[in-house]
Amino acid sequence: MEIKANLEAVKKSFKNPECKLIAVSKTKPVKLLMQAYESGIRDFGENKVQEIQEKQPKMPADVHWHMIGHLQRNKVKYIAPFVHLIHGVDSFKLLKEIEKQGKKVGRKIPVLLQIHIAEEESKFGFDKAELKDMIDDPEFQHLEHVLIRGLMGMTTFTEDENQIRKEFRSLKNLFDELKTQDLPDFVKLEELSMGMSGDYLIAQEEGSTMVRIGSAIFGARNY
Ligand SMILES: *Cc1c(COP(=O)(O)O)cnc(C)c1O
Repeated sequence: MEIKANLEAVKKSFKNPECKLIAVSKTKPVKLLMQAYESGIRDFGENKVQEIQEKQPKMPADVHWHMIGHLQRNKVKYIAPFVHLIHGVDSFKLLKEIEKQGKKVGRKIPVLLQIHIAEEESKFGFDKAELKDMIDDPEFQHLEHVLIRGLMGMTTFTEDENQIRKEFRSLKNLFDELKTQDLPDFVKLEELSMGMSGDYLIAQEEGSTMVRIGSAIFGARNY
């Protein structure tokens, strides 16, 4: 009941009703995911491969599983057969591993490139120079089992709205800039995954097409 009400409140607050909602269900039991499912949610986000593997067989087959956290290369194989979108592709090495696993299972695996927009050192992601190097690499031009569907970014952990807005804006600018470039066919820049429970309204104002919301739907997490 609470989850249904939370979902309604979140959706009602959206600045952009077209923006896609990914319900981030990490650490939460399947029982609660089912409540969200029954309220109409089909897109679930998890940040641990093991947890996706455990929950996936217990949930209805039409669920779209989003891998939103840092993904280790040696774990790509476990989600390659079914994952709907990998949000956190933060290196060419990881992208090449996804290509390899996509080939094995006969899929083109949809991914987003994670861009480093935060001031903090700790956050993962490509910086502009790394992105350019990858795009210019001849090996990049020949990928056949990945689909790059857009970009993803996470802001600095701060209360400072201006800082957050500035970082989202920098990601949107990069997104728009990349769209003007001549890129291979497997790159279709349609999605901008930015915004979580604390900052999704700012993210939507700055052009987000996809928000990843956990605690505002399922409540705070106990780790
Ligand atoms: C946990 C997580 C979220 C959701 O965070 P909330 O603050 O609970 O909405 C979004 N994106 C990523 C990458 C996460 O790991």
